[in-house]
Amino acid sequence: MEDNSTKGLKRDRKRRQRISRIRNGIIGIFGIWLVASAYLCITLTLRVNSLEEKLDYLLDNFTVSGQLEEESKKNPSNVDESAYFDLENSTESQMWEETYAIPPAVNQQENLAKEGDTHKVYLTFDDGPSSNTEQILDILKQYNLKATFFVIGKEDEKSRALYKRIVEEGHTLGMHSYSHKYSVLYETEDTFESDFSRIQNYLFEVTGQECLFYRFPGGSSNHVSNTEMTKFIRYLNSQGITYFDWNVSSGDATSQAYTPKELVSNVMDDVVKYKTSVVLMHDAETKHTTVEALAPMIESLQGMGAEILPIDENTTVVQHIAASSVGEQ
Ligand SMILES: [Zn+2]
Repeated sequence: MEDNSTKGLKRDRKRRQRISRIRNGIIGIFGIWLVASAYLCITLTLRVNSLEEKLDYLLDNFTVSGQLEEESKKNPSNVDESAYFDLENSTESQMWEETYAIPPAVNQQENLAKEGDTHKVYLTFDDGPSSNTEQILDILKQYNLKATFFVIGKEDEKSRALYKRIVEEGHTLGMHSYSHKYSVLYETEDTFESDFSRIQNYLFEVTGQECLFYRFPGGSSNHVSNTEMTKFIRYLNSQGITYFDWNVSSGDATSQAYTPKELVSNVMDDVVKYKTSVVLMHDAETKHTTVEALAPMIESLQGMGAEILPIDENTTVVQHIAASSVGEQ
């Protein structure tokens, strides 16, 4: 009897051990499954977030393109092409792709920063005024900083108020042609000169201030001008105007849909190299990411001890073709 009951107890113990092993196995597998799922969930969420950011940007652009097309069908004369030029005109898009490679500025070698040098950074905004100008100005005001706006000719009341606000708040107002239409602007010396006078006179009439700085649409090194750029450079020299290209590009004009974070790192990667950095950005209706990138960009620049300044007559010029290289005639 005793033997039988001992055997029974042993059997019971073995069964309990087996059950507990199976239970532990099940718990183990469940645990691993739980951890793996959580890991997968987190990875996927991060991926989806980054894709959503990109999609938002693409949808914005797509919508604007579509709207523009519809508007131009309804009323062709009503469309402000300049605000959309890089989306609408494939030649211009291609050109921006090329310029994103950034031709070396003529003083690149002397401009390389050595350890201990202060980095001077000039934030420049092309193509405004636009529906983003106010926000850009508000952000600059919040940080008590001045920048440079290379503007084009817009006659509406809102734009006129924006030119004035740029000047009143101490920023540098530069010219970026009146029309921003490459085919007309760069057609002949005459068309360039009359466009130049038009923007110069217009901005003087609106702000009471004479503009001394110019940025060529597409830069002095652009490949779309039908006329040699040296002719226009010679003309600007004769007018006492200094033109600025750029040696740092945020990349906000390329067909790449950069996120605000990427725009900031595009700028930061290059600013560290130079004593003087002229940063190319755009003030245009579709460039929401530029606005979003501005505050974090300013903070990163200040974090590295950079001095953020508006262009003035003491600024080291950054030019792709040297103004001094063209001679007098
Ligand atoms: Zn432009």
